[in-house]
Amino acid sequence: MSDSNAAWFERAQAVIPGGVDSPVRSFSSVGGTPYTVVRGRGAYVEDVEGTTYIDYVQSYGASLLGHAHPEVVETLRAAVGDGTTFGAPTPGEVLLAEMIVGRVAGLEQVRFVSSGTEAVMSAVRLARGATGRDKIVKFDGCYHGHSDALLVAGGSGVAQLGLPGSAGVTSGAVSDTIVARYNHVPVLDDQVAAVLVEPVAANMNLVAPAAGFLQGLRDECDRVGALLIFDEVITGFRLAPGGAEQYFGVTPDLWCFGKVIGGGLPIGAFGGSKKILSSLAPLGPVYQAGTLSGNPLATAAGTRVLGLVNGDQYDILASRVATFANELQAAIRSSGLYARCPVEGPLMGLYLSRDEFETPTNFREAKILCDNGLYAAFFHAMLDRGVALAPGAYEILFVSFAHSVEDLATTVHRAAESAEVAATS
Ligand SMILES: *Cc1c(COP(=O)(O)O)cnc(C)c1O
Repeated sequence: MSDSNAAWFERAQAVIPGGVDSPVRSFSSVGGTPYTVVRGRGAYVEDVEGTTYIDYVQSYGASLLGHAHPEVVETLRAAVGDGTTFGAPTPGEVLLAEMIVGRVAGLEQVRFVSSGTEAVMSAVRLARGATGRDKIVKFDGCYHGHSDALLVAGGSGVAQLGLPGSAGVTSGAVSDTIVARYNHVPVLDDQVAAVLVEPVAANMNLVAPAAGFLQGLRDECDRVGALLIFDEVITGFRLAPGGAEQYFGVTPDLWCFGKVIGGGLPIGAFGGSKKILSSLAPLGPVYQAGTLSGNPLATAAGTRVLGLVNGDQYDILASRVATFANELQAAIRSSGLYARCPVEGPLMGLYLSRDEFETPTNFREAKILCDNGLYAAFFHAMLDRGVALAPGAYEILFVSFAHSVEDLATTVHRAAESAEVAATS
């Protein structure tokens, strides 16, 4: 009993609000008790009861190679003995910065922070400081971390909990945030400092950018002198070796990274041209700082992960995911439910309904499907069969480089059974 998921979750709830350190981990939208993870290896996680799951959460995208990759573990073992944080420059942060800058055309400098939230928050401040303007445009259903100005109309956990934004955020903090519809190019004026976008929306389930949407944003920003910010916290180095810019051929002014670039440790980064980045302290007037920024362990792990994957492997992963998506969709449809698994590179969504539907192109359309109640039943049927999906319909599936063709085939088989359960729920 002391090693049951229920017992651990009860202890957690006593000392941690809701028993979780991030709301997306709670089972509040699917019901039931979360499994408490003790270890992970490759595509799998194991809970305190010794149950193993094929894991499609993968730390919401932070893990690209799967859990505890042997070479990443070895790198961390070697790094930890030399000290974990200094408050002085280190070679490790230079190596990771060089690697990131070397992969993304037009990106000349990055600054490291400790989370994706911090990366986007800092990029927005930089955009405002560099342009001398106040307004920010974001898109309905995109998630950019939990900073005050960007929570409004957020995806991921904000959508899952049905919150319009968050209590505790002043009207002043959001008064300069304009919310636009995804896949619809807004008309801007010269008060707009920046347009912030997820190049593939991956926090309202998966919504791909329509043809011309990202280029349309680029052109509209150029017309009024606003900066275009790509929030690549999920897409960065997952969509392609050079991220969304390489994948879509549209170049933003500022990039935000997180998740993958820390190899499973806390990190974030934002960057752009030397000219724009020169506005940052100590060179310029935009202040931004962090005690643990550029952390030696996180930069070592990130550098190792990025060094282990090449362009061909991304193509293999993307084609594996494309096949998986088709098979999963077909398996679910065979139960009488209707499913669509939109794919963009190795990113993959999952929408369920009793009736046929078209793939969503914006938050309003995604929400109707995500809120129809079917996901919870499917999620639990899958979990009972040893497949861990994210406990919320607004998240996507993360297939890592560690997921084998057999893992994916097993998942399809279990999905067919799970869909039958969900169909009769
Ligand atoms: C996860 C995420 C963030 C926030 O990153 P954290 O590390 O959780 O703070 C920002 N933007 C996008 C697109 C994300 O998916």
